[in-house]
Amino acid sequence: MALAPALSAMQRGGCESESAAGWEAAAAEEEEEQGRVDAGGSGEPERTAREEPAKARAPAPAPAQPGAAEEGDARVLRRSPPGPSAEPAQGPWSHGKPRSRGRSCKRSSGRAADGYHFVRPVTVDSSKARTSLDALKISIRQLKWKEFPFGRRLPCDIYWHGVSFHDSDIFSGQVNKFPGMTEMVRKITLSRAVRIMQNLFPEEYNFYPRSWILPDELQLFAAQVQMVKDDDPSWKPTFIVKPDSGCQGDGIYLIKDPNDIRLSGTLQRRPAVVQEYICKPLLIDKLKFDIRLYVLLKSLEPLEIYVAKDGLSRFCTEPYQEPTPRNLRHIFMHLTNYSLNIHSGHFVHSDSTSTGSKRTFSSVLYRLSSKGVDIKKVWSDIISLVIKTVIALTPELKVFYQSDIPAGRPGPTCFQILGFDILLMKNLKPILLEVNANPSMRIEHERELSPGVFENVPSLVDEEVKVAVIRDTLRLMDPLKKKRESHFPDLYMDRKHRFPLGSDRLPSAKLHLSKLSIVRSQQLEKPLARKEDPSDSDLASSSDGSSKPNPDAQLPSICLKQVFPKYAKQFNYLRLVDRMANLFIRFLGIKGTMKLGPTGFRTFIRNCKLSSSSLSMAAVDILYIDITRRWNSMTMDQRDSGMCLQAFIEAFFFLAQRKFKMLPLHEQVASLIDLCEYHLSLLDEKRLVCGRSGRLGVRPPYSGTAQEATAAALLAEGSAPPCPDRLSHSRHALS
Ligand code: ADP
Repeated sequence: MALAPALSAMQRGGCESESAAGWEAAAAEEEEEQGRVDAGGSGEPERTAREEPAKARAPAPAPAQPGAAEEGDARVLRRSPPGPSAEPAQGPWSHGKPRSRGRSCKRSSGRAADGYHFVRPVTVDSSKARTSLDALKISIRQLKWKEFPFGRRLPCDIYWHGVSFHDSDIFSGQVNKFPGMTEMVRKITLSRAVRIMQNLFPEEYNFYPRSWILPDELQLFAAQVQMVKDDDPSWKPTFIVKPDSGCQGDGIYLIKDPNDIRLSGTLQRRPAVVQEYICKPLLIDKLKFDIRLYVLLKSLEPLEIYVAKDGLSRFCTEPYQEPTPRNLRHIFMHLTNYSLNIHSGHFVHSDSTSTGSKRTFSSVLYRLSSKGVDIKKVWSDIISLVIKTVIALTPELKVFYQSDIPAGRPGPTCFQILGFDILLMKNLKPILLEVNANPSMRIEHERELSPGVFENVPSLVDEEVKVAVIRDTLRLMDPLKKKRESHFPDLYMDRKHRFPLGSDRLPSAKLHLSKLSIVRSQQLEKPLARKEDPSDSDLASSSDGSSKPNPDAQLPSICLKQVFPKYAKQFNYLRLVDRMANLFIRFLGIKGTMKLGPTGFRTFIRNCKLSSSSLSMAAVDILYIDITRRWNSMTMDQRDSGMCLQAFIEAFFFLAQRKFKMLPLHEQVASLIDLCEYHLSLLDEKRLVCGRSGRLGVRPPYSGTAQEATAAALLAEGSAPPCPDRLSHSRHALS
């Protein structure tokens, strides 16, 4: 276990892998030439400040988060990354001869004359990829990018972390995790975030089962169940209890009565969510199944969401029956977890992606469509569920983000693949079960040779779906894409023209990806797409007649479909909490904090002109203390003192209800947000007119552009001297 880090340290200390070092020398020169401009090529304008060279920064602690493990870790046979010798470094077009190619290119005096530029390959640090390593390697090879399996002294373009943002300290480039995502998708936090949205938009958020947080809401749970039972004695509900930090079905059980919750000892130590159990799932061959869908959060600000066109369906291994006291413990009947069902004698491994206990979701849809199901409607309901869920998660994520990567400090940009677990009800309504921050990207599965002895064998269905997701995520995040496009304009234009992004001309399902063996993935680097479509052979050579291969032209169309901002118009009205989070962040004050102090809260009230004769500042202070104290005791979060976002939202709801009594809740809240934003924009304007650069007292929303940041910096509440304009106003008022 300790071998890999030790090796890695040795490699870093001495000469790194020969080929890697050779490449680095060339790459370093090249990077100098190219500057860091390329790193912004993925189209995230506000991030340029974070691409400064790494400065000394206090190493980010890597807290041992319960539940922060990569999904599927529990039974993982850990492997050290293959050594450099096993993985000869390859340049983009050189097929194993990066140095000579890179050098000859550098030395070529005719470079400027013939206009030939060598676009360096994108570099990926895979040293922390853990169980996604196999799929990542295949993806990098298909893209002809450069992998650094032991890390790299120089910055890489992309860092692939298996578990969390904090897996290593990074100050530039892109990392495949957002800070705080693991916390955000834990069962309790997710339930809280969705509940806020359910309060605001009950109809829109009825895709998440009603949930209670244990132990805090045990009494409430029991009381509410009793109330419904009193109303309707024929109601025989079932509930599912899920430990907050659990995964892979660990610790989950079904109950018929609130009194059946296992209180003995564990609940205090292991908080949980109790949730309505969906008793009527859609069945195929009498079996319950769920859907694992991969969702790429490409950017938080602006919000960009992609959904993979294919996912996995995981089947139970015992025919389903609605829950009765006798079958409540039949896990193979009620829980679809692969990690559980694989241990059932009835688990079916299949060589086909459309049969067996784990299949592609597209094969399930195909089957449903053959039975007359409107699968377009199913898809659009699923996409809507995904967008709404991400909208529920982003406000707090922004708070985490600005805390870990404060505006103006060097840091990476983030993206993340999320695993959405969805259940289809008998009436085809999709239900969100949970979101995984670290969905398993393993492309092999275990086979039990004899009791207790397992071997790993390639899993075709996993490989087909997961490699496409990772590869296409990388393609979407490609920081050098613009540069490459400018070098191969004809190729890219042709490609775009013929196979626009997301087109179905070459569906990924058609592409038979290699099995695990890297040898086969190397074969795949060759004329893969040409097999699919003969016209692609034209794309593989540039219009100037030179044979510079364009890897993109050889790949199938991107399997990730943009759903946001594409459907922004339909969903933007739901983003109220997001706007509240922007207000919250603006008044946070000290960089790196996640909680609002009493002064920040008072300033918020004052600047938004919310105090009045009926809401004195003393009442504001009491409101702050009251709500903050309750939330801090509830979340047992002792990291910072102060008001967390959830508490701020509660206070905001309270203020909105007071001010706009007659409206429905979401309109009350929307009206108050409008009012706050209006007063703050007036303040911003005044400060801009003033043109004074005061000291930073209030932070700009982290997401703002450089101009907005300057404007907000001018705001410096409480610390900037009043501008003459303001003074003259008050003088007029006084006189
Ligand atoms: P874990 O993270 O431990 O996998 P999940 O929330 O995914 O926890 O639940 C495990 C399994 O239990 C799901 O895959 C699903 O089959 C079943 N399940 C979870 N919640 C519900 C529910 N509300 N109704 C019906 N089945 C559920």
